[in-house]
Amino acid sequence: RDLDELVARQSVCRACPRLVAWREQVAREPRRAFAEEPYWGRPVPGWGDPAPRLLVVGLAPAANGGNRTGRIFTGDRSGDWLFASLHRLGLARTRTSVHAGDGQRLLGLRVVAPVRCAPPANKPVPTERDTCFPWLVREWELCSSTVRAAVALGSYAWDSTLRTLAALGYAVPRPRPKFGHGAEVVLAAREGRELPEILLVGSYHPSQQNTFTGKLTESMLDAVFARAASYAGL
Ligand code: SF4
Repeated sequence: RDLDELVARQSVCRACPRLVAWREQVAREPRRAFAEEPYWGRPVPGWGDPAPRLLVVGLAPAANGGNRTGRIFTGDRSGDWLFASLHRLGLARTRTSVHAGDGQRLLGLRVVAPVRCAPPANKPVPTERDTCFPWLVREWELCSSTVRAAVALGSYAWDSTLRTLAALGYAVPRPRPKFGHGAEVVLAAREGRELPEILLVGSYHPSQQNTFTGKLTESMLDAVFARAASYAGL
């Protein structure tokens, strides 16, 4: 399948020297709590339903989360919040995602990241974002016949999603719609393109910075996913 081929090709990508060095250094010198565990230490592909109606866009794998487990949002605190919310809404089989063989299944949705290797301090530089961009565009393109809604977790994901949709042939308004928690925009194809309308909804990222401080609550996150899932027909 095309998606499988994409995942395989992406898994050997070494296009960003700084990120390759960081993902491999973290894997060689893991955090003490994970010292006995094997680390993935490579690009982390999107995962979930191969024919999703909803795409969830994050930022990049966490050094000791996705970079360890090989699955985005798996094995870190942000993922704990994300999967608990998806499970409450019937969009994930279980409420946690701890490792790639844990039996978790995403129901009608797929989780993707604009940058696929763990960046130092969770901050990719613009050249890394641009170098990784074609992977996201291609993954979205392979899912585009079924996707009807997207949730962007944070402003970085929001901007990356708008850029991806523009590259795929959607008419993105100028000035670009502003990110906010609960912000929404419906995007249609540019003239001459045949693409289904897509609802994009913004959410604060479920990082500890937001969840510990109460900036993002469970009910706020649930409301965003409920809205996007309903629009997508899930
Ligand atoms: Fe390749 Fe993306 Fe990783 Fe850069 S961040 S090395 S483009 S997979």
